[in-house]
This record gives sequence, C-alpha cells and structure tokens, in this order.
Amino acid sequence: MRTEARTLRTIADFDSAGLLKTSAELERVADKYALALSAAMADIIETSDDPIARQFVPSVDELRTLPFELADPIGDDAFSPLPGLVHRYRDRVLVKITHICPVYCRFCFRREMVGPGKTDNLTRADTDAILAYIASKHEIWEVIFTGGDPLALSPRRLKSLMEALRDIPHVKIIRFHSRVPVVAPHLITAPLVSALASANKPVYIALHANHPREMTLKARDACSKLIDGGISMLSQSVLLKGVNDDVEVLTDLMRAFVEARVKPYTINHADLAPGTSHFRVPIEEGQNLMRQLRGRVSGLCQPSYMLDIPGGFGKSPIGPNYLRPGYVQDYHGNWHEYQDQNSDLRA
Ligand SMILES: *Cc1c(COP(=O)(O)O)cnc(C)c1O
Ligand code: SF4
Repeated sequence: MRTEARTLRTIADFDSAGLLKTSAELERVADKYALALSAAMADIIETSDDPIARQFVPSVDELRTLPFELADPIGDDAFSPLPGLVHRYRDRVLVKITHICPVYCRFCFRREMVGPGKTDNLTRADTDAILAYIASKHEIWEVIFTGGDPLALSPRRLKSLMEALRDIPHVKIIRFHSRVPVVAPHLITAPLVSALASANKPVYIALHANHPREMTLKARDACSKLIDGGISMLSQSVLLKGVNDDVEVLTDLMRAFVEARVKPYTINHADLAPGTSHFRVPIEEGQNLMRQLRGRVSGLCQPSYMLDIPGGFGKSPIGPNYLRPGYVQDYHGNWHEYQDQNSDLRA
C-alpha cells in the first residue's frame, strides 16, 4: 500500500502538530488502537476539538470500555466461513480484503481488527479460497469489499480481484465501502478507476463521511473521477456525538453528498465498539434528527437510519415510524386520520 509522507501515526506526531491538549495516558490508547491522520484530513482541522479532530485525534475517553461493549460488535465472527469473508445475508458477501486504512477513526466498529499488526494479512491462498467460495455459491449476487479500506489497495491488486469476479457469472454487482475519496483523494487515480471498471460489472462505492467539511474540493473531484468513470456512489455516515448530531450539520452533509452526485444511503447508529461510548447518541435523538430532515431537505437527501443488531442478526431500519392504526403523521408532527382501505378489503 502507498502511504503518504505526512500521515500522523504516533502520539508524538499528533503532539507536534499541536492537536493534543495533553499527551498523558495517550500512549495507552495507542497501544490498544491504531492511529493515523492523513494529510488531507489534518489540513481541514481548525481546532483540536472540532468535528474533524474528534474523529481522528486519540482521546483518553477511549480507555473507558463499558461492560456491554463488544470486540466483535456486529457478530461477524459467527457468519465467517473463511478468514476475511462474512456471509450473513444469502445474496451477498462481505470481503474484508485488508485491515489497513489511510486514517483510523476513533469510533471504528472494527477497531479491534484494523491497523498495522492487528490481524494477519490475507495471504494469496486466503484470497483464492474466498474467490472459490464465491464461485461455488450461486446465490451470491453481490460482493461487498470492506476492510480496512479496500480502495487503499493498489490498482494492480484491485484489477486482479475485478478480473476474477468478471469470470463469475452469478456475481452481478460489486460494492466497495470506503473512506478513501475523502481522506486520501490522491489515491483515486486513472489506473484505479480503470482497475474497478475491469470487472465489466456495475460497481457501487459507499462513501463514508460524517461531516460536511470532509467533502472538500479534492474529495468532490475524486468522486467526479469515479462517477465519470462509470461508478455509482452512495453515502454512509455514522451518527456521532459532537460530530454530526445536529440537524444543520446533517442537512449540510446530505446536501454535500447529493451535490457531489453521491446518493445518501445510510446513517448508522454507532455500534457497541470498545471505548466508543463518548460518541454514541440515544436512538430517540437519532430518530428526532431524522424527523427534522424529512420535509426540511429534498427527498434525495434522506438516508435510512440503521442499527446493526449485536450478535450477527443483521441491520434494521430504526428511523421514526409515521404510521399507527388509523393515522399517519406528517413532517410537521401532526397526525391525520387515514384508513388503509386495501388492508380493510383483505380482512
Ligand atoms: C452491512 C452488511 C452487508 C450489507 O448490507 P446492505 O443492507 O446490503 O447494505 C452485507 N453483509 C454483511 C455481513 C453486513 O454486515
Ligand atoms: S476507515 Fe472505516 S475501517 Fe478504517 S478506521 Fe475508519 S471506520 Fe474503521
């Protein structure tokens, strides 16, 4: 993987960049969880506790692990037939192709797995076994690459994966979950875009960004290169206290996505990852934020609010419910009588 010279990787790096109020006890955080802040993100940090800094600068709060927080918060392990592969839903698999990221988010739900030296790298044989599994299961319609950050892989490596998937006829869709276009936009090069196209199949990228300031000019240019290269883009965000738990911020974020031709897809309730309680927002507050978005901004700007159920039970939408027997609620919060005539006919 290519790394950028100016990525901050140690407590000393963060300290000399003026990002720490105190470095006391932070070495203990660094011993537990990987650290990296890319140049692109360091450039847009204005103060040491702004919403960008909060996502990447280590904090002593991370040393507080609550009893219900889990090393494997969404129960991937129970559905992992091979190293690096999660097959929870019948028609799609998740491939954790790398455990390296250009940044390490302090709230990461895979924080126990990601980072240099955390997990063994997938070997060539592991990758071959994953591809053979996908080829043997005809119900697999979609392959989703995640990590770590799969777009941090070299174009050469991506091309060989795409060529292998090109030759598996039942795989119709390839998806990547990535933060690269935002945190390391220089990695979105013409060879990378053409590597993704070499599958000859529809490719979707779910872009992870949490604050409108992350959608910099360079990030938007990177999205344009991908989209102009034939790739469709979706958004994914995590609802984070002190970052985006505010209707103005969410409005600006969703509009920034749509303006960059990235269709809002999900806003995820923060998972129960160890040492992340300072980021979690009550679900009721998340639902209130979603209610406020509805009506205030275009339908194009509406993501689904999702919870990944601990234990491996999958994702469920947990947004507000606008319907109750005999009534429907409008976006102002007023209830109106509404009888579902079709349901009455069937009864
Ligand atoms: C989140 C996830 C997916 C993708 O879910 P979508 O609802 O299709 O976005 C697939 N497999 C696993 C194991 C997941 O955790
Ligand atoms: S980029 Fe994704 S996988 Fe990597 S640290 Fe951030 S949330 Fe975790």
